[in-house]
Amino acid sequence: MGPQASDRTSPVVTRLAPSPTGLLHLGHARSFALAWLHARSRGGRVVLRVEDLDRERCKPQLVDACVRDIAWLGLDWDGEPRVQSHSLEPYERACKDLLSSARAYACTCTRAEIAVLSAPHADDGEQRYPGTCRGRFASPDAARASTGRESGLRLAVEPGPLAVRDELRGECAFDVAAEVGDFLVRRRDNAIAYQLAVVVDDALDGVTDVVRGDDLLPSAARQILLQRALHHSTPRYWHLPLVTDEHGARLSKRRGDIGLSQLRERGVDPRTVLAWVARSAGLERGPRPTAADLLRGFDLRALPRAPAPLSPADLDELVP
Ligand code: GLU
Ligand code: ZN
Repeated sequence: MGPQASDRTSPVVTRLAPSPTGLLHLGHARSFALAWLHARSRGGRVVLRVEDLDRERCKPQLVDACVRDIAWLGLDWDGEPRVQSHSLEPYERACKDLLSSARAYACTCTRAEIAVLSAPHADDGEQRYPGTCRGRFASPDAARASTGRESGLRLAVEPGPLAVRDELRGECAFDVAAEVGDFLVRRRDNAIAYQLAVVVDDALDGVTDVVRGDDLLPSAARQILLQRALHHSTPRYWHLPLVTDEHGARLSKRRGDIGLSQLRERGVDPRTVLAWVARSAGLERGPRPTAADLLRGFDLRALPRAPAPLSPADLDELVP
């Protein structure tokens, strides 16, 4: 086991980590507000990080809108936002470390080659990498010399269960080797993978508490493996139940997609969004609370464990 969750008495540091792949919507507003409340109610720090390393999916023109939406909600952060694409050096250094400690290896496989070898995993179409290149090349240079191809970098994952301790869900077991296998930390086009970037930045920023949607719970297992390989400590995890409609179904496009920018442009009072977040978190602070109004007595541990509903009545209030 690597070093365990940070010292309980150290000040809380959390982060808001939007990806500018689309406009922020109500689900983001809820995760960010809860993360912010968790840190600020404990006198902690909040870091804003723009996760824009995936050049295929990120739209640079959305960065400003994301930052403005967060500020519109009345959430603030400490220091300048960290924009991942502005400084790649820490990620490159981590790649070097992983290579020199033989925790990662060069892989020249294309996505199409892997697709032929492995059945898509579960229903999300995720491919399990079968380990074709493990032990095959001494380095990315050697891989290029012998195949004439560029290589990606994969973490060598040992088989067996891994327990993720989540403050809201308790202990959750994952078997990363069985689920995704040796996963990419740097792609063949040199783009740093999300998993590595998060781990490097969380360590750089001294993040003690990761508060985010529970769609990322399986990622926590991969991130813990990377933290151990890089000798970083593991933060506390708080994976938030997702937002659903009143029947408990995943939000439909129509509802879940309401962009915060759209609400802002329509002149909606951001405190109506916070009122919904508060209700969904079991807090009653009136119809128009500010973020600061929600701080008193806030305790993320008291969050209802059931999915957070967004009902038609909520929507009517949000979108008059
Ligand atoms: N940027 C990710 C997202 O928007 C969040 C990553 C994280 O919180 O670790 O889904
Ligand atoms: Zn390979």
